[in-house]
Amino acid sequence: MAKYTEAKCKHCRREGEKLYLKGERCYSEKCAFERRPYAPGEQGQGRRKQSEYGNQLREKQKVRRMYGMMEDQFRSTFSTAARQKGVTGENFLQLLETRLDNTVFRMGFATSRSQARQLVLHGHIYVNGSRVNIASYQVEEGDTISVKDASRKKNFIKDVLETNDEYNAPEWLSVNMEKAEGTVVRMPEREDIEHPINEQLIVEYYSL
Ligand code: SF4
Repeated sequence: MAKYTEAKCKHCRREGEKLYLKGERCYSEKCAFERRPYAPGEQGQGRRKQSEYGNQLREKQKVRRMYGMMEDQFRSTFSTAARQKGVTGENFLQLLETRLDNTVFRMGFATSRSQARQLVLHGHIYVNGSRVNIASYQVEEGDTISVKDASRKKNFIKDVLETNDEYNAPEWLSVNMEKAEGTVVRMPEREDIEHPINEQLIVEYYSL
């Protein structure tokens, strides 16, 4: 499997906004974007003029990095969205949100999507009682996602569950943090995604 290796904080600085890629650090004063809210490199503090294409590319890169996906997988998810009925941009966001790694993150069982992906890949996550170790697995309405019983005793998972004790999951999910278990009560809608995303720019980018 291809590995996502670029320094995460540089992504936020390049995109000009916080993408929350590093869990708790993102909410602390150690956040690199809080300290240096400009693009990395020598030209980082200069004015950035962008063409229409540049805006489309940046938005696509921003969302791809938020969800921690490689280009091939991101594009293929977009193609799936384009083949579905309805509005392509909204279908696309729904497919991204309902990835298993993102759902685990949204349920508060991990502090970042990359940590959630590790939980899935290492077999700590169950869907409807069966282990699923595929980060891109698509959850559906009614699915129950849980952290494996034995894994809940592991320190790094225990710490997250305790820290996120009062976590408020988005409305499309219902979570019982004590049991480390949650249910997809409905499919996510556009309004459920609070992070500012202009999905139309991504649709335009892939339509070129
Ligand atoms: Fe982005 Fe988080 Fe790094 Fe801040 S700490 S720059 S939000 S990844």
